[in-house]
Amino acid sequence: PDYTRAAFFTSAAQFKDLPPEAGREVAFAGRSNAGKSSAINTLCRHKGLARTSKTPGRTQLINFFSLDGDHRLVDLPGYGYAKVPEAVRRRWGETMAAYLGRRQSLSGLILVMDIRHPLTEHDWQMVGWTQERALPLHVLLTKADKLKRGPALNTVQRVARALGEADVEATVQPFSALKGQGVDDARSVLDAWFLG
Ligand code: GDP
Repeated sequence: PDYTRAAFFTSAAQFKDLPPEAGREVAFAGRSNAGKSSAINTLCRHKGLARTSKTPGRTQLINFFSLDGDHRLVDLPGYGYAKVPEAVRRRWGETMAAYLGRRQSLSGLILVMDIRHPLTEHDWQMVGWTQERALPLHVLLTKADKLKRGPALNTVQRVARALGEADVEATVQPFSALKGQGVDDARSVLDAWFLG
């Protein structure tokens, strides 16, 4: 698919509001402020596509972007923001479990983590949902520009090892929206999931 043609399609607040199943979609998940919106915008070379916000935890919607007729990117609500009320958090969990567990069009999950704060408790929860249905998983360790090359590569290896030790099949790469690092690698993963 041509990622630069991504355009907003629709939003859903809960599972029953999702657009009808169609073709294939790839979802992006991440802790609030991890850099998920910036990663989506960078992959699509479209600055305002997924809203980047300095107020973490605000968006609770699932946003769909269409690439072309059969291919979509899905921006899942950010998580892990301390100030979110318990009821909102519970509903987030229910919606994520339903979406990741039952959405047939879903072809893979991109888990976006700040390279300085990888694998939080909620990240592991997302990983767990992918494993329940053997959904392909790819980890973007973003804000890689915040670390020197050595420590960045060490973190990539450390995260890959932690996932491997938990019997999770996943690929892991460094990424930087700021520097445009890792765009080709990430697109290759998406291509394989969309076309494979
Ligand atoms: P989201 O809440 O996960 O969607 O995170 P955003 O994409 O809104 O980014 C959160 C903050 O991190 C913003 O201030 C971004 O400018 C910053 N940010 C995102 N990606 C990068 C990156 O690759 N490098 C650096 N240095 N900052 C980034």
